[in-house]
Amino acid sequence: MIVLVVNCGSSSVKYELFDTTTEKSLASGAADRVGVNGGTQAILQHRPASGTAFETQRSMKDHETAMELILEALCHPEHGVISSLNEIQAVGHRVVHGGEKFAASMLIDEYVIAGVEEVAELAPLHNPANLVGIRACMHALPGVSQVAVFDTAFHQTIERRAYLYGLPYEMYEKHGMRRYGFHGTSHRYVSLVAGRLLTEAGVPADEQCIITVHLGNGCSMSAVKGGKSVDTTMGLTPLEGLLMGTRCGDLDPAIVPMLHDKFGMTPAEADAMLNKECGLLGVSGVSSDMRDLLVAAEEGNERAAAAIELFCYRVKKYIGAYSAALGGLHAVVFTAGIGENSSPIRAKCVENMAYLGINIDEDSNNTVTSQPDGVDISRPETSVRVYVIPTDEELLIARDTASLVSGD
Ligand code: AMP
Repeated sequence: MIVLVVNCGSSSVKYELFDTTTEKSLASGAADRVGVNGGTQAILQHRPASGTAFETQRSMKDHETAMELILEALCHPEHGVISSLNEIQAVGHRVVHGGEKFAASMLIDEYVIAGVEEVAELAPLHNPANLVGIRACMHALPGVSQVAVFDTAFHQTIERRAYLYGLPYEMYEKHGMRRYGFHGTSHRYVSLVAGRLLTEAGVPADEQCIITVHLGNGCSMSAVKGGKSVDTTMGLTPLEGLLMGTRCGDLDPAIVPMLHDKFGMTPAEADAMLNKECGLLGVSGVSSDMRDLLVAAEEGNERAAAAIELFCYRVKKYIGAYSAALGGLHAVVFTAGIGENSSPIRAKCVENMAYLGINIDEDSNNTVTSQPDGVDISRPETSVRVYVIPTDEELLIARDTASLVSGD
């Protein structure tokens, strides 16, 4: 089945076209600066899987115009990968928040649209943009089935003890203030790959205890037992948990009113600071990019070194916490930009954890190259496997879409 995967942000549309029979990507790309200053400086980057990529500056006043240009690029006589739009059989949308309503991917109908609207107050930057993308595709591809794949859905299996905050219960009951978790499609994808490897190694699927560590610009971890998420580090919003590129992660909540009392910040200013000026960037004062920090620390920058230490220490602390939550541990999986590419960070996150059965092989860790089926970097004699597995959220969205549309 030919499936278009769409990830629509407030001023961008990312896309990837798949043939789900072969699971091959046919083309991918992104429209950026959509609707910004009337969309006059918007750019479309289109990358056919084979052939040359091209970039074009075209006016895109809204997401509908962007969708039309993306579909035009997919059918373009030179750069295109399909001959007509009729070849697109379904569209899968990344939707950030599904609240408690959606614990799995859904065929989009009026009920699903209303549900996504209902929880928009929990993700005010993302869900409205996702809905705009859904409507733009409905307009551009009338009659083609659409599927919503939620970032939160995988974590709907976590139990009350892991999702409740210590707030008055009505805050949860009446206002949905609980932990939801994000990056669910990534955690689900890499835990599926790791689960296959563990099954081959003789660990029964329903007993597998896996900790997935997604370290990119945004960072989160998940404890996965028998294929189900039992805990995760992000909460009501993606601000909780690990230190991230520019997000603070776990924080004493008393700091938030202090930002007002001491510095006169409004709630919106405090929110912007905690999301955009903290994390690796805020601690180091150098950059939010781990590559820059590793260079700066090597050159003797103490704050860059402190940011790296804090980043890795938190991952390590959660590995300890999640092995307790799981009641055992078979595998730790590193994924996303930092997790897949940075051997010093992986090493630091699991150093001195042999007591738990985690001990990586230095050579394997330093020389690992990305393999879709995952690479084991642990010492053979250890009880816990440590895998590096490239995440592929788009492929999982395409799979879910094909499966729902074909009724499998
Ligand atoms: P993602 O959000 O998954 O695209 O990850 C983006 C982050 O991955 C960037 O901010 C970089 O800090 C990080 N990254 C990518 N390549 C490397 C690398 N070779 N070493 C360290 N960090 C990397």
